[in-house]
Amino acid sequence: DLWQGIDFSRSKAEARVDGSTGVKFGDVAGIDEAVEELQELVRYLKNPELFDKMGIKPPHGVLLEGPPGCGKTLVAKAIAGEAGVPFYQMAGSEFVEVLVGVGSARIRDLFKRAKVNKPSVVFIDEIDALATKRQGIYKESTDHLYNAATQERETTLNQLLIELDGFDTGKGVIFLAATNRKDLLDPALLRPGRFDRKIRIRPPSAKGRHDILKIHASKVKMSETVDLSSYAQNLPGWTGARLAQLIQEAALVAVRKQHNSILQSDMDDAVDRLTVGPRRVGIELGYQGQCRRATTEVGVALTSHLLRRYEHAKVECCDRISIVPRGQTLSQLVFHRLDDESYMFERRPQLLHRLQVLLGGRAAEEIIYGRDTSRASVDYLADASWLARKILTIWNLENPMVIHGEPPPWSKPVRFVGPRLDFEGSLYDDYGLIEPPLNFKLDDQVAQRSEELVHTMYIKTVSLLRRHHAALLKSIKVLLDKQEISGEEIDFILNKYPPQTPLHLLE
Ligand code: ADP
Repeated sequence: DLWQGIDFSRSKAEARVDGSTGVKFGDVAGIDEAVEELQELVRYLKNPELFDKMGIKPPHGVLLEGPPGCGKTLVAKAIAGEAGVPFYQMAGSEFVEVLVGVGSARIRDLFKRAKVNKPSVVFIDEIDALATKRQGIYKESTDHLYNAATQERETTLNQLLIELDGFDTGKGVIFLAATNRKDLLDPALLRPGRFDRKIRIRPPSAKGRHDILKIHASKVKMSETVDLSSYAQNLPGWTGARLAQLIQEAALVAVRKQHNSILQSDMDDAVDRLTVGPRRVGIELGYQGQCRRATTEVGVALTSHLLRRYEHAKVECCDRISIVPRGQTLSQLVFHRLDDESYMFERRPQLLHRLQVLLGGRAAEEIIYGRDTSRASVDYLADASWLARKILTIWNLENPMVIHGEPPPWSKPVRFVGPRLDFEGSLYDDYGLIEPPLNFKLDDQVAQRSEELVHTMYIKTVSLLRRHHAALLKSIKVLLDKQEISGEEIDFILNKYPPQTPLHLLE
């Protein structure tokens, strides 16, 4: 018999039992509200008898819900770690077997162990894998294997429900489960009495990201000169897992470069690796190509700095330019993101400033090279004319108040009173996302008006950069020499070469 001697019922959780997970709440950041709520579980686990004596019912089960990598497993481990109790972890997928009875036996076994070693924590990750909506055992299907698998999953889920319902007999055991697909879960599992608490674990905010970076940076040798807050600010949407990976990657880069600690440049390199991809060694721009790239990128970056400096514009400033080819790109320009507020209420002056920034690439090119354009600046020009059309039409920030094009059929009549931009540049109104009507008619009038708008802003940008000719040249030179230039270096250059510095003073 093939299966002889193999005890399927023994749950793999056994291997994961240890006295303590060693994880503490101090290792978790960015999800303060969840941690606050979970403190109570720790108090319970530390002294279940007290709760019992006082007649306080312990929480039955807690469902942690949220996207992957935001710390669900971590916080579950921290509960066990803080309370100093054993932690029994399994993934939902480990219960899903085609062999009838194996999954439910594993569930029974898992809870039995937890009860024997109580107080303790049972954690089932990806519970959706095992607890998807039941379809009814008698659902007919011609697929034999499908039937068997479904039936098995349902038996397993039933066993889990039995365990949860019988919890009173197993006092001192806290059951936690995690999912990022709450919508898939069987309603029976979500009924009160099974999961008393549902706690949402959200991706971290900018402050949360900063705190998470600090935690992970404290585990490696990070140079004090590295400004973690700027990474937190500039990596919206990054989860705890991704930020942890960033620090690991930066440490690897630092080791490779034989640095004694992780430097800012190692962090930048790591960000690039995790976003655009590793450096491309094969492709090289010739020197002429590099000069062109550098000119365009510096033009864009310098325009953003100048508008901030001299017109107090609320525009994204350039953090860093690199002309090292990576992934699909020949050069990168990283903008420092504005605070969330500025994005929400982006208004006409900001949009016009942003238009000028996009035109800075071509403007710089004209100043240095004259009329002919390169690929890089044409890309920026395309973005600029798209933005100009949006300013004129979708956002309706110029007169006449005409909306060109059809609003999408499913949307309510689009109101233009308070459009807001999200981080990706999509437009929101109070009902949610409005897709910019991509097919809006570019009638001659809009075409002409947007051309005029681009032209006016372009002329302004050229004269702005002309006044700072020396700073422009110097920045391009630094970028070409070092392949990279930072926002601070650009600021430094602007201080050293004020408007209309005669060119012969450039050393
Ligand atoms: P999930 O269970 O939500 O998919 P994990 O808890 O497995 O996410 O996160 C993976 C790793 O990412 C953690 O071990 C930790 O190193 C890091 N991490 C994720 N979220 C956080 C957080 N909120 N605070 C600190 N580190 C985090």
